[in-house]
Amino acid sequence: MFIKDVINDILIVTCDIKDMYTNIKKDLGLKAIRYWLYKYPSLLHERFSIDFVLEALEFVLDNSNFQFNNNFYSLISGTVTGTKVAPTYANLTVAFLEISLYDKVKEIYGENIQKYVISNWKRFLDDGQILWKKSFGNIEDFVNILNSLDNNIHFTHECSTTGLPYLNLFLYIENEKLLTDIYYKDTDSHDYLPFSSCHPRHTKINIPQTLARIICTVVDDPKRKQFRLMELKAWLKKAGYPISLIESAFLKVNKVDQLTLRAKVPPKSENLLVYVETHNPKNPKVFEHLSKFFNFLKSFERFSKLFEGTKLIRSERQPKNLGHLLQHSCVNLDKPKNGCQKCNKKSCGTCQYILETDSIYFSRLDIYFKLLNAFTCESGNIIYKITCNGCGEFYIGLTVNLRHRVTNHKFCLFNEASRIQKVHRHIHDCAGSMLVPFSIVPFYKVKRDTNVARLSTESFFIRKFNPRLNRDK
Ligand SMILES: [Zn+2]
Ligand SMILES: [Zn+2]
Repeated sequence: MFIKDVINDILIVTCDIKDMYTNIKKDLGLKAIRYWLYKYPSLLHERFSIDFVLEALEFVLDNSNFQFNNNFYSLISGTVTGTKVAPTYANLTVAFLEISLYDKVKEIYGENIQKYVISNWKRFLDDGQILWKKSFGNIEDFVNILNSLDNNIHFTHECSTTGLPYLNLFLYIENEKLLTDIYYKDTDSHDYLPFSSCHPRHTKINIPQTLARIICTVVDDPKRKQFRLMELKAWLKKAGYPISLIESAFLKVNKVDQLTLRAKVPPKSENLLVYVETHNPKNPKVFEHLSKFFNFLKSFERFSKLFEGTKLIRSERQPKNLGHLLQHSCVNLDKPKNGCQKCNKKSCGTCQYILETDSIYFSRLDIYFKLLNAFTCESGNIIYKITCNGCGEFYIGLTVNLRHRVTNHKFCLFNEASRIQKVHRHIHDCAGSMLVPFSIVPFYKVKRDTNVARLSTESFFIRKFNPRLNRDK
């Protein structure tokens, strides 16, 4: 912490890169990644060469596409934010610019201030922060250096002699000391996962502890810390967490001193064997058995060597929620037109038999039947009409999968042993030499997905249209 005469010299400064992802040009990004790859080649996994990584990165950057309302869009500048590589890519690119920053600071302010800047300039992705000393000169000059690093990267900044938010921290000066408090954005509604939610129990139990841990790590002033914990307790209570659970979590975290909480925890290098399952409280407890068998297996000498130091753990995958089920990356505002259309997929064996139309005509009854749904080769749970291309007689059938049904009809038509039904015998004799002996139109969607509904709908249409090819004699 700072002694009195020094703290008066301090200006708390936070910087933010304006629209970082969209403003990193590809040339700069690739140059930066190339630089880091050649600087630390040993960090690269032996399976990958530098050229492979660069080529793959360029491929990702060049292929950021999405579809909206039947139009395809491609990102032409910057980095797409959704891709996995984006944060690392952006981070390394800005870090590459920081090399020039330190050089320029040395040029303008000298080596001592360069050293100070190297150890005091902190950044998380696009958010930078420094405790600037007024004795160094005007902060605007420093920000100007930041803005000279690249023409497209623009830093905005804020400064204060009393306090400023930075990430989830509030940095402030009190009694000649620089302290930190937790900072919540105004938009934070503190709606934590409800305790009644269908999540694995350990997930919910961890929430009070994780949140309390953040407070205990971040908040310097003990009185403020207690206030922040009380605040959190009220929010968690609102989300249905039992008081006893909240209190025991707080107690556990409170016992650990702040220095330990703030210390960097080195990543554990464990050999993990992960059993992944989709979370559902109703699933049988497979993992408990697995774990028992795994231990049994390890009791044999051969396997104990094989699995030495291996830990079997369970991981639960989130099941699809309503959001996942309702969203699709392809947004199409055009409603499909009612009628029957070929799917036009390359290897579809049904397309050539599909008659594209929005109504069918029953000549004997002189009835036009309008198709009130959209049908393709991929439709199912439907009533269809097959017309003999030789004479125009027809057959009415039902299927849960049109494509499978057409395959089956074709098979029966061309294999004598299977040519038992009248429809197949007739079409074979009447139109068997034609390239496309019959055409098919799915014309009615059965509303309910049950056998009874399908069969009664089919028999309704057979009675109504009286198709000759359905009669077996
Ligand atoms: Zn098709
Ligand atoms: Zn015929």
